[in-house]
Amino acid sequence: MKGYAGKYLIVDLSKGKTSVGRVDESMALNYIGGYGFGARTLYDMLPNPAQVDPLSPENVLIWWTGPLAGTLSSAGNKYSVFAKSPLTGIFGFGISSGLFASEFKSAGWDGIVFTGRAEKPVYLMVDDDNVELRDASQLWGRTTWETEEMIKEELGDESFTVASIGPAGERMVKLANITNERNRQVGRCGLGAVMGSKNLKAVAIRGTGDVEVADIEGLVRFVADLNERCQGPATEKYRIYGTPANILVHNKLGCLPSYNFQRGTFEYAEEVSGEMMLKTHVKKIIACAGCPIACDHVNQARELYSGAISSVDYESLALLGPNCGIGSLDVITKAVEICDTLGVDTISAGNVVGWAMECYEKGILSKDEADGIDLRFGNGEALLEALRRLCLKEGKLGNLLAEGVRRASQILGRGSERFAVHCKGLEWAAYELRSLQTSTLGFAVSNRGADYLRSGSYQVDVKGQVDRLRLDRSRGKIVYEGENLYAVIDSLIICKFTRGIFKSADELARLYTLVTGLSMTGEQIIKAGERIHNLARCFNVKCGISRKDDYPPPRAFEDPLPDDVVKGAVIKREEYEEALDGYYECRGWSKDGIPTKRKLLELGLVKEAEEVGVEA
Ligand code: SF4
Repeated sequence: MKGYAGKYLIVDLSKGKTSVGRVDESMALNYIGGYGFGARTLYDMLPNPAQVDPLSPENVLIWWTGPLAGTLSSAGNKYSVFAKSPLTGIFGFGISSGLFASEFKSAGWDGIVFTGRAEKPVYLMVDDDNVELRDASQLWGRTTWETEEMIKEELGDESFTVASIGPAGERMVKLANITNERNRQVGRCGLGAVMGSKNLKAVAIRGTGDVEVADIEGLVRFVADLNERCQGPATEKYRIYGTPANILVHNKLGCLPSYNFQRGTFEYAEEVSGEMMLKTHVKKIIACAGCPIACDHVNQARELYSGAISSVDYESLALLGPNCGIGSLDVITKAVEICDTLGVDTISAGNVVGWAMECYEKGILSKDEADGIDLRFGNGEALLEALRRLCLKEGKLGNLLAEGVRRASQILGRGSERFAVHCKGLEWAAYELRSLQTSTLGFAVSNRGADYLRSGSYQVDVKGQVDRLRLDRSRGKIVYEGENLYAVIDSLIICKFTRGIFKSADELARLYTLVTGLSMTGEQIIKAGERIHNLARCFNVKCGISRKDDYPPPRAFEDPLPDDVVKGAVIKREEYEEALDGYYECRGWSKDGIPTKRKLLELGLVKEAEEVGVEA
């Protein structure tokens, strides 16, 4: 079995001891890597997840690469992190890229599993087989960027790659992320808070080994072809403008969330567009290891906050910009820098601050509860101060926002829950609820909560392949197929921006076989995707998830959009119910959203059929 290292590191933080686990062929074929390995190990290691406090030593923190990491496969250098999420209370999962995954695999490891809690702050150093837990007292309180530099200096080698948490993770802010190489993040689900709860400040890795592949000549030929396709139209917008190219496209369609999802267009969209950003703010464009696309646009603020630097993608831009009524690229660049250095997810942060701004303007959140900040939409200074407080859990406002939008709205009450735009506790990303209705179904049924990355169901809406202002039973199939495919992509793990260059699932399977030598067809790899998705759902069912949780927030049903281009758009409840039924039917789940024994047995999930499955 090539591609895989065949082993993973187990770190007991309570005892300060390490041991080695094995990855065998059956694990590889059934679960592929990344998301699949995460779903398998999280399910097995937390048999009673409902009883586990996510911020206690009983939670586990699991890191996996995929079989492609460290090879020459296009855009395949990604790693993933898993735990029970402190933000959502269910399956927590995030993926990051950069160089980290490549070093990880070159060091000879497929993954790392952390258990327990260290007595005092530590970081893990992995230098090939040499593994050591080192004192991190001097790093505690430092930003992610400072931590990275200080660890490299301490280890005396720039070639270590570092993934760390900032002060937000240390304080167990529920939106805390994990950052590697300054601007790459395991962003969602508050996994940085789990790291903080374990007193684990960082992981530093250097690998000097080679990753063997099964058919090097075949792989070179196939990757050359894929790289050529990467220079074609499917990825053009990412190469030129990066993902911020979506701002004007979405604005035109009325699906750019603004003013806390009250609207789907933004009057200053031109000023914060990808086109404007490239002209006025982009200082350099960079790529993850082995990526021929290079989508990462690094901004520098010009007039306000001059010197502020951050990598700004569509999601960060839309949530910290239009969703908070901000029309200045300088302010947005600074806002992303605050989130990245102090260590919180920009999507969740922009969403929860937008919610607070709406509550403030409606008189639900008082000036005193906002710590004296004039938290109106469009007030850049207020946004930056609110973010700083959120990251540091400072004052009444910071402590409230640090809980994430679901919990914050429950704490504040007074009807503010109605404006909290989330699903299963995860803040909604930058796709409007009512003007992209297939997308909304995909977000709402996702295993991670409101998630744009688990099915790509927004694509049929944005491309005009369906009537995006209504739903019907057939949308369930679109989401179902998208989820199975994306589960494969997230297990291999390859960058989603390359998804358009693969002509079929057969090509994904071919890539897998060229790297690993394990025979796999397109049909089998999609089946593995379905297995992985069901396994993660089984974990969630054990946490109490069912049909009642697979709905978008009230705003989707109750507040028609006011924007001219999509005036009056709203989701009809009966259509949503029909689409949800259609989705469960494709999945082979019960009407209540629980996997049936028959489906789980068909996927080889025997233990899960017994523990979770219901009769058809
Ligand atoms: S397309 Fe962008 S995110 Fe994806 S691997 Fe390339 S640089 Fe990284």
